[in-house]
Amino acid sequence: MEQKPIKEQIGLLIDLQVIDGQIYAMSKEKASMPGYLKSIDAALELKKTNIKQAEENLKNIQLKQKEKEGNLQQKEEQIKKLQGQLYMLKTNKEYSTMLAEIGGVKADNSLIEEDIIKLMDEIELAKKRMSEEKEIFKTEEANTQKEKEIINLKSREIEAKLSELNEKRNTITPNMEKQILSRYEKILKNKDGLAIVHIEENSCGGCHMNLPPQVISEVKLREDIVVCGSCLRILYIEDNVEIN
Ligand SMILES: [Zn+2]
Repeated sequence: MEQKPIKEQIGLLIDLQVIDGQIYAMSKEKASMPGYLKSIDAALELKKTNIKQAEENLKNIQLKQKEKEGNLQQKEEQIKKLQGQLYMLKTNKEYSTMLAEIGGVKADNSLIEEDIIKLMDEIELAKKRMSEEKEIFKTEEANTQKEKEIINLKSREIEAKLSELNEKRNTITPNMEKQILSRYEKILKNKDGLAIVHIEENSCGGCHMNLPPQVISEVKLREDIVVCGSCLRILYIEDNVEIN
């Protein structure tokens, strides 16, 4: 089988690299999407905490109010009972002692009633806070939904673009020497999607290490595949670039 000239092969590698660079970047972006979607869901879930706290707060105050009301009812029954006993008392002293006791309980009750009124105000505030937190969450939920839709759309766009790029790629690879292609693809995989780089001011365009003159002149000849001694990427020199 006739070997295709290296010069031509390097030209094809350069074209391929343009496509593969895009494929690499897009695949990477696409691969990060499921994790990102998960993380924004988790962030939203975390924002439910504020609603839960507001609910908890409301429940606590309502419980306190119930307790106070139970307390008040008890004391009112106590007053009724004492009032019922008043008529059975025989002496003035017993009578005034009982009246004082009733007065004491009534005084307790008005304090409890004041507390209940305060708690009712607190309940109103807590309810307001809870509905505010729910509104905030609704907005955040809608934003998250929107963001997810954008990401899903982007993901579909990337998929379409990727199949387009792969088609383009398939028009180049049949013209390539299998060995050269597989060597290139191996570097591509190991070197973050960048396998062939041009020489820039006597240094490697991939890792920026200085290249010995011998390597540069070999690259210039385009008679063989020459790699950077440091990052192992394939090197080339653009035709219009003068390198001394
Ligand atoms: Zn290098």
